[in-house]
Amino acid sequence: MPHARGLRETRAIDWAAMTPAGRYAPSPSGDLHFGNLRTALIAWLAARGSGRRFVLRVEDVDTQRSSAESAQRQLEDLATLGLDWDEVLYQHDRDAAYEAALETLPYYECYCSRKDIQEASRAPHAIPGQYPGTCRELSRAARASKRAELAAQGRVPALRLRAEVSEFTVHDALHGDYTGEVDDFILRRGGQAPDWAYNLAVVVDDGFQGVDQVVRGDDLLTSAPRQAYLATLLGLHVPEYIHVPLVLNAEGKRLAKRDGAVTLRELLETRSVGDVVEAMAAGLGYEGVRSADEFLEVFELGRLGTEPSVFEG
Ligand code: GLU
Repeated sequence: MPHARGLRETRAIDWAAMTPAGRYAPSPSGDLHFGNLRTALIAWLAARGSGRRFVLRVEDVDTQRSSAESAQRQLEDLATLGLDWDEVLYQHDRDAAYEAALETLPYYECYCSRKDIQEASRAPHAIPGQYPGTCRELSRAARASKRAELAAQGRVPALRLRAEVSEFTVHDALHGDYTGEVDDFILRRGGQAPDWAYNLAVVVDDGFQGVDQVVRGDDLLTSAPRQAYLATLLGLHVPEYIHVPLVLNAEGKRLAKRDGAVTLRELLETRSVGDVVEAMAAGLGYEGVRSADEFLEVFELGRLGTEPSVFEG
């Protein structure tokens, strides 16, 4: 594991002796709703049901959209639902670890604006949404001048991984083998206030927290190949992935806060926690389960499907 040294230096632990963990990793940008909380419940059931630790991570790398108050409310809601956990890690405390990981990776500066990337990806043969590689092979002189241009606007360049593959295959317990695109994705976002990128933070933190089981919404399945590739570059184990179906609204779209009374706090104005857990369990094919602990007694990972369920309100 040639690249793992910088990472390990940030925590003096015996990794091999660490009990593996499952996790839930919400972004603190508002209250959790029925769908988010159902995913958290499944993550807890999968971890506890397999003798793993269960850890939380407050994914507040996006400093513009995160708040400490929201993080606090999310933790309260998870406890109200009946979940417990072994630790909480805040990404805002993790700069040194991300920096150490970054220094072991091949990366380059990217000076492109969002508009530049959109225009370049309209070119023939471009794959929509994929970084076209504009800044990958710039000369030293071109880099210096672009860096100076940004600096004059008080901005710094983004940092991108110099990926050596264009796709990567992961195994998902529900979706089987899944091959997805890997491009030169961002490791640290540029601009006036650079933030660490989600993909880097997730992988470094899952490694640090001993996570070997990742349960999350299946909207993130397409991110898994990038993250698994990054894990291998960092000398970390690729976790077992379990991308679970989302909860949809009446129109068949992903449930969102604009769909009415969907946060736990709103739901509890008219019903009990038992009612909420029962509705979550019913959507997963379990009848009459009214608490997280009761659910743990009957839960079987093998019974999870990939079909989304609809929030009945
Ligand atoms: N923080 C991400 C979100 O709330 C989830 C990240 C993950 O589970 O890997 O959407």
